[in-house]
Amino acid sequence: MINSDKINISQQQPKKGNHAIVIGGSIAGLLAGRVLTNHFQQVTIVERDRFPEHPQFRPGVAQSHHVHVLLSKGQQILEQLFPGLVEDLETSGSLKIDWAAEFPWYNLFGWQPRFRSDIKSCLCSRHLLEWGIRRQLTADYSVQFLESTQVKNLLSNVSNSRVTGVRIKSNSHEQDLTADLVVDTSGRNSSLPKWLTALGYQAPEETVINSFLGYSSRWYKCPEGFQTDWKVLAVATKPPNDQRAGIIYSVENNFWVTTLYGINKDYPPTDEVGFLEFARSLRNPIVYEFIKDAQPISPVYGYRRTENRLSHYEQLSRLPDGIVAIGDAVCCFNPVYGQGMTVAALGAIALDQCLQSNPSLKGLSKYFQKQLAQVNSMPWLMATAEDLRWPGTEGAKPDWMTRLIQKYLDQVLRLSVEHPEVYQKYITVMQLTQPPKILFQPDIMAKILGQIIKNNQQFESTDRDQNIPQLLC
Ligand SMILES: Cc1cc2nc3c(=O)[nH]c(=O)nc-3n(C[C@H](O)[C@H](O)[C@H](O)COP(=O)(O)OP(=O)(O)OC[C@H]3O[C@@H](n4cnc5c(N)ncnc54)[C@H](O)[C@@H]3O)c2cc1C
Repeated sequence: MINSDKINISQQQPKKGNHAIVIGGSIAGLLAGRVLTNHFQQVTIVERDRFPEHPQFRPGVAQSHHVHVLLSKGQQILEQLFPGLVEDLETSGSLKIDWAAEFPWYNLFGWQPRFRSDIKSCLCSRHLLEWGIRRQLTADYSVQFLESTQVKNLLSNVSNSRVTGVRIKSNSHEQDLTADLVVDTSGRNSSLPKWLTALGYQAPEETVINSFLGYSSRWYKCPEGFQTDWKVLAVATKPPNDQRAGIIYSVENNFWVTTLYGINKDYPPTDEVGFLEFARSLRNPIVYEFIKDAQPISPVYGYRRTENRLSHYEQLSRLPDGIVAIGDAVCCFNPVYGQGMTVAALGAIALDQCLQSNPSLKGLSKYFQKQLAQVNSMPWLMATAEDLRWPGTEGAKPDWMTRLIQKYLDQVLRLSVEHPEVYQKYITVMQLTQPPKILFQPDIMAKILGQIIKNNQQFESTDRDQNIPQLLC
């Protein structure tokens, strides 16, 4: 079983093979590439895009216009894989956030308390994060990048029992590239199911849970001389009726990325006036108050493909050797929970551990996908249980257990408004540094019981309370 609490990244391993190929050079691809350098003489990352020289947008990662939260767990893994990365990002302008102190959050029961903690991660644009990781990988590890190159198909041996490489296309020129292991990290639109079918295998079954959430985001310059003790500010939805939310997220260069979202097809507009009106219509207009006079530096970007999608590779009875898949290619989430990059990082660690523990590559594909399914299961449950609160969510209905957990978590949040120690635990679960079971410890359960018995409604705040709470010491 994969142990992601104690991240034990292999160092000097006897090599498992000569060459590994990674399809896609985004977060999952870069992290997979990094761990593969522990096990293969040569690693090649094939990416359809040309990478920008500076931290900038590229078409293959259309989501990078939007807020990208790096959870504390994700940062821990990145720092283990790339010692010095966080410092490097800070040199390039990334900020640092204490999630309990510097993140005023208008949640189900009003503002969450604010206090200093050690729940931290770096705060930067998705462009900068990916660029920083790529720079470290290029500088310190022997990875070859094939840019502007698309993987068109898999190569296999005569019996199709083993994938032996990929067919690539670059500048209308096609070529075969052989490898001992191919790792698919090509994201949500992965062609792996189609390629497997062509080799005579079944495509994996999919579970799709869709709350029909839409994002609209705009970048602003933080107003001149603006001084604040927060770095991220958010107004949450409140099921079942308040389906709109918004976040202001500080990044490098004194910019704010402001993302508004609506659930169950209440999509935020992408025109200037509509965007501001949507911000004003949130449960609390504070996001609007901050952005209305700020200087926009981008158009409003929309994004609508946000369903939770899980491909069950672990259930396939047959899978060829020589191929594995991680990241969004296997499991992608409703992005509001900020889990995608961190779960991709956990997947890369799982791959490293499987390569360490498996004596050869034979049988690795099936073994790895089963391990990965375990890694994905808790974040998947957390995201989908939240999405199933909304009546318009499609793909499943909440069973009694899900409803019970939802109600319990409501009680935890309510308790956390007046109990910083409970809120601290809640954040560590959201940041994936602790498992959800810590919210079911006897001390919290006892407090919740007391709360229910008292049936105390005093935590209900007026929904438009604009004052950001003071930082407790
Ligand atoms: C709107 C939005 C907001 C998000 N916010 C967050 C957040 O706050 N926090 C968080 O952790 N996650 C967030 N995510 C999720 C996050 O973006 C992904 O989980 C993360 O990028 C890891 O994805 P990936 O590397 O598996 O795939 P992707 O990022 O989709 O990258 C796939 C790569 O493969 C390349 N590619 C595709 N096909 C081929 C091919 N045939 N040949 C060669 N190259 C190919 C693409 O060009 C691309 O570079 C968000 C997602 C969305 C949509």
